[in-house]
Amino acid sequence: MDSVNKWGNMPLQTLDSEIFSLIEKEKRRQCRGIELITSENFTSFAVMEALGSPLTNKYLEGMPGNRYYGGNEFIDEIENICRRRALKVFHVDPTKWGVNVQPYSGSPANFAAYTALLNPHDRIMGLDLPSGGHLTHGYYTSGGKKISATSIYFESLPYKVSSTTGYIDYDKLEEKGMDFRPKLIICDGSSYPRDWDYARFRSIADECGALLLCDMAHISGLVAAQEAADPFEYCDVVTTTTHKSLRGPRAGMIFYRKGPKPPKKGQPEDAVYDHEDNINFAVFPALQGGPHNHQIAALAVALKQATSPGFKAYAKQVKTNAVALGNYLMNKGYKIVTDGTENHLVLWDLRPLGLTGNKVEKLCDLCNITVNKNAVLGDSSALAPGGVRIDAIYQMLHCSLYVSLGLLEKDFEQIAEFLHQAVTITLSIQKEHGKPLADFNKVLVNNKDIENLKATVEKFSASFDMPGFQMSAMKYQD
Ligand code: PLP
Repeated sequence: MDSVNKWGNMPLQTLDSEIFSLIEKEKRRQCRGIELITSENFTSFAVMEALGSPLTNKYLEGMPGNRYYGGNEFIDEIENICRRRALKVFHVDPTKWGVNVQPYSGSPANFAAYTALLNPHDRIMGLDLPSGGHLTHGYYTSGGKKISATSIYFESLPYKVSSTTGYIDYDKLEEKGMDFRPKLIICDGSSYPRDWDYARFRSIADECGALLLCDMAHISGLVAAQEAADPFEYCDVVTTTTHKSLRGPRAGMIFYRKGPKPPKKGQPEDAVYDHEDNINFAVFPALQGGPHNHQIAALAVALKQATSPGFKAYAKQVKTNAVALGNYLMNKGYKIVTDGTENHLVLWDLRPLGLTGNKVEKLCDLCNITVNKNAVLGDSSALAPGGVRIDAIYQMLHCSLYVSLGLLEKDFEQIAEFLHQAVTITLSIQKEHGKPLADFNKVLVNNKDIENLKATVEKFSASFDMPGFQMSAMKYQD
């Protein structure tokens, strides 16, 4: 009992040096490497402060003003601020849109939205995973194995990108949609480097009598900064994660239309949207329990940051950097899907080189460059795909200037050069030792080229400061 009493105010370093040390190692990994995973971002110190606050202690259920359990006066205020800011960040009229900020993350947000809008076994259409869609958009394998619960509980038919252009094949979507008659069409995805034609999605959805849901998880920061097409103009429901381009904590949100419906043939004059109650009910009590208040407070902080003029400049720079990165690689003769990008990501097709995404991901890992293997058009497997997805959200502060300069185009050209060198090493190992992954993996240790590139990457990364934590206080500096 005595030791239990002492835990209360004991720092992590003293109480659990094992976990403390691993966190410090991860901090060093993030600082000394180049993180190019599109689903990630670096959140701010203030967001992490809210995340690590005693709000995690509080239990409650339901919506602000109507909770189970007492003691919610401050928690209610925090959630209401978060909801107000969420609507403001995305420039929507609060009389026409509402938002639920309780989903624990993106996948639960999507499943809650489907639960609210659909009955079991209703039909859905989302972008196929190998075409750049997300698991939760109804994914099952080409062999018919239902992977995502969204294909187990709903009948799903994917649409795809064109195998020649890499752009979404809207004509095929329309044709398939008219045959399949889905109740819900899902737009946006996880690795699509182009803008989305929401007007076209809307007209297809209307033609086949479907609702339109946009999962803007990847691009929500760009949408907030008005640096991407606006899904709110055309969609019925918009879901998002909050930890990608939005730079918040890990969480999810569901936006829904509310109030009177626009006039439509065959619809009563006084028709109103019924999404609000259905979505709130789907989140709680149908799928979740108590909201994570520390996460909601942290999200509120991130949303405040996302309304600042600096955030707009950040989003613009992200896009410019992505273009610089893609152009550098294309100038080296590499194949970039759709020959470029209009958002934060570049999708690199490695198949013309005879390489898989797995090998390049592995080799980059050893050089402190973190990318993720990714399916590219025509791939049937997400486990052995022919590409890597690279993110230009990578944003650090320039140490020597002590101002938030961030990384600019020239830095991204340097990063592209590192990637080129990593691929060159991968190719030469494969040439010498053959294609099987086991043979490739065997010769990666004590490889001079890998060690040299790793040292150069570390040196490059060390010249930048890191948002979110004090590098000078880090346990592992070198
Ligand atoms: N939706 C999209 C488009 C995503 O890319 C992702 C994750 O990368 C998710 C949903 C799922 O988010 P989470 O991992 O937070 O559940």
